[in-house]
Amino acid sequence: MTQARPRTGVRTGRRRPPDPSPAWRRRLDRYRPGLVDDTLAAMRSMYGVPSWQRVHDPTSELILTILSQNSADINAERAFDALRTRWPSQASDTPATKVNRPGWGGLGIGQAPPPDWTAVAGASPSELIEVIRPGGLAPQKAPTIHAALHRIHAERGDFSLEFLGEMEPRAALDWLMSIPGIGRKTASVVLLFSFGMPLMPVDRHVERVSKRIGLLPPKATALQAHDYWLALLEPGRAHEAHVNLITHGRQTCHALRPACQRCTIASRCRFVDRRAP
Ligand code: SF4
Repeated sequence: MTQARPRTGVRTGRRRPPDPSPAWRRRLDRYRPGLVDDTLAAMRSMYGVPSWQRVHDPTSELILTILSQNSADINAERAFDALRTRWPSQASDTPATKVNRPGWGGLGIGQAPPPDWTAVAGASPSELIEVIRPGGLAPQKAPTIHAALHRIHAERGDFSLEFLGEMEPRAALDWLMSIPGIGRKTASVVLLFSFGMPLMPVDRHVERVSKRIGLLPPKATALQAHDYWLALLEPGRAHEAHVNLITHGRQTCHALRPACQRCTIASRCRFVDRRAP
């Protein structure tokens, strides 16, 4: 009797669909040359050049980003602070000066040490849900937080994600995305802001602005948008592009009634003129 071959996803012969992002880049280069550079220059003229520096340790960045999924950043901060209050780490007497990072939409979280991740990982699901309830969608986020902490500890023996900084970006993305509930955007945020990896997180602001200008195909999914953007960008520009496009989406290119009259990329924006160069 022959045994069934294990379904590893490698031996099945299934092919990934071809990546359309290189063809899209060639198309933009041909028909709308300089659009990426012009967009980044326009954003720069409005918002300056954000400087990268690590603000949170990678585990805190991951948990904070999970808490911000489909919630306002300020609510994610409340939930993160609630974790620290309920499960303080031993060294929590550090003054809680607020720190923020470029692209984050809240007020910043206190610079006090992170929560005691051992205690958070060991909490009952119902208690964790109650503690993070101020952040919204707690019943969905609590299992993701537990899955992430348990996975890190099972593989590393502690709760540090510093090892990701030694990996290639694609491998680090895959590692994070293998945790249930962690998608491409969350994983890209952690790796960009914790390690400066050349990855482009695409949230609703980045996606909206990019599609309006015509930098992304109108029907690209949020997941595909990550690959399109990576094909368009020189690696060293991901942080600037991500932060400034988010800022543009929040301050100027609003979902309703974008302020096109004061937008410096208006002459090249397909939302303003569908034949814009
Ligand atoms: S011109 Fe208007 S729609 Fe286009 S990017 Fe600027 S604000 Fe957004």
